[in-house]
Amino acid sequence: MSKVRHVLGISGGKDSTALAIYLKDKYPQLDLEYYFCDTDKELDETYKLIEKLESFLGKKIKRLKAAEDSPEQQFDHFLKIYGGFLPSSNARWCTQKLKLEPFEKFVGTEPVVSYVAIRGDEDREGYISHKRNIQSIFPFRKNIWSEEIISLFFENSNIKIVEDIFYNISSNGILDSLINITKEPLSFNYSRERKLNDFLSLSTKSFNHAIFNFLKIKDYPLSFEDYYPILENEESLNREDIFRILKDSGIGIPEYYNKIEFNINGKKSFYSRSRSGCFFCFFQQKIEWIWLYENHRDLFEKAKEYEKDGYTWMQGESLNELIKPERIEKIKEDYIKKTTNKSNTKSPYLIDIISDAEGEGCNICFI
Ligand code: SF4
Repeated sequence: MSKVRHVLGISGGKDSTALAIYLKDKYPQLDLEYYFCDTDKELDETYKLIEKLESFLGKKIKRLKAAEDSPEQQFDHFLKIYGGFLPSSNARWCTQKLKLEPFEKFVGTEPVVSYVAIRGDEDREGYISHKRNIQSIFPFRKNIWSEEIISLFFENSNIKIVEDIFYNISSNGILDSLINITKEPLSFNYSRERKLNDFLSLSTKSFNHAIFNFLKIKDYPLSFEDYYPILENEESLNREDIFRILKDSGIGIPEYYNKIEFNINGKKSFYSRSRSGCFFCFFQQKIEWIWLYENHRDLFEKAKEYEKDGYTWMQGESLNELIKPERIEKIKEDYIKKTTNKSNTKSPYLIDIISDAEGEGCNICFI
């Protein structure tokens, strides 16, 4: 029987960093392997964070290089293959070539549990590999299981199997309620979400143990494990918790999140970068491009050099057009308007105010 590998991808973002810290503290018995898919184009702050995290974890974070034998930097190697065609949200060859393929190569064909740092306050699933030997687990959510496993567990044709599992594992006073929920088939009036919530509110631990036993008869990586400590997890962690974990560990938030003051037309505001990833990432907002221009001029100039033969990082606007003084002024003014409205609302963190589309984009690069 193969040994199950447990892997955690570090993007250089706050959530995956916090997950590494959290799992080390809470589940030290998990023998985790850490990896980082390196494009050679991350911000220095990201590389620094990864080194800091390595010393905290006391383990190496393996750098995965998609074209390790290439004399060129990883992104440049593939850009050449794509004939200078810059990636975009509609043509994300960079994610495929520089993140997913090296990850799947690293994992190989052995059973692997992959930990994903999607938080309890997010409503998204993240990257799920379609390779059968990779199973995703979400320790920051109350529901640690992937959609695929929940669907299988809830299939009406599996009701009898699940009922027997609960009879075998549950001897406490909630057995009748667990069986009642199990027996209720999914229907127009009883959705998968409702059934899931019913189980989680009654007993997350019993639900987790039942799925773990259910997986024993299915060919999923966790079926090879005799014991799995995360079954006892009942927590749901939100963004505030992530910032707290980073602060308490001494690692702190990635430096690119630190807000920097700027002034425009007598008005004061702050900007920062909202996510990890390549310095030229096409998912960044215009104000983040201005942040790059004003705070990392060398990187901005490098990003500009990629724009040739009609290819630009943003649709309909080149970086040269973006940095015309009147355009910078307009972007800053629009940003101030937007953040003034938003800052009246919820969070004390600038990242909450500027990162409109946190759920969008490349999960494997940003989490
Ligand atoms: S960070 Fe952006 S540019 Fe870099 S690989 Fe991810 S999606 Fe592509």
